[in-house]
Amino acid sequence: MNKDYYETARANPEIRQEFLDSIDMEEYAPFVGELGYRGVESEHTMYLEWHIFRPRKVKSPIIICNRAFDEAWDWESFYNTLLHHEGFHAKSFYLGSPHNLIDRVSNFFTKTFHLKNSRKFDLNRCLEEDRAYSNQIEHPSFLECSRNFQGAIIGSLEINRGKIRMLSNWRIDI
Ligand SMILES: [Zn+2]
Repeated sequence: MNKDYYETARANPEIRQEFLDSIDMEEYAPFVGELGYRGVESEHTMYLEWHIFRPRKVKSPIIICNRAFDEAWDWESFYNTLLHHEGFHAKSFYLGSPHNLIDRVSNFFTKTFHLKNSRKFDLNRCLEEDRAYSNQIEHPSFLECSRNFQGAIIGSLEINRGKIRMLSNWRIDI
């Protein structure tokens, strides 16, 4: 059973990739490439690995880091995030990146040279995050997740909405 397998993978990093290979991405399967385990310390639990030049209609890999196993998550929270948050991002990118090519290229350079992102890029990114958080919260499986997890996700959605408000109000003072 998935729940038991998740608990076993939490206790044993060596079988985490095998465990990920066994996961059914359900309706998101057509949009997701491999689920890759990265046994490294990271600020992330899991994230969509995207590439600036990846065209639409190409599956995106999802990277799962130690935090998705080592934090006090349960199977329901793990699966809800993997499918209805990261799977959602994979579907968005498959259907057409929320950022146009010029924005993606400019983001590549701002990251490389440690510059500041354009406001439009940040706003688009926050809007995509808002859709992903809303999608995972609205899915019935969210109600099966632990209370701590639900609170954390709702908190992240609120923080992100604050950023959206800030970025939307931005204007040039002359
Ligand atoms: Zn996200």
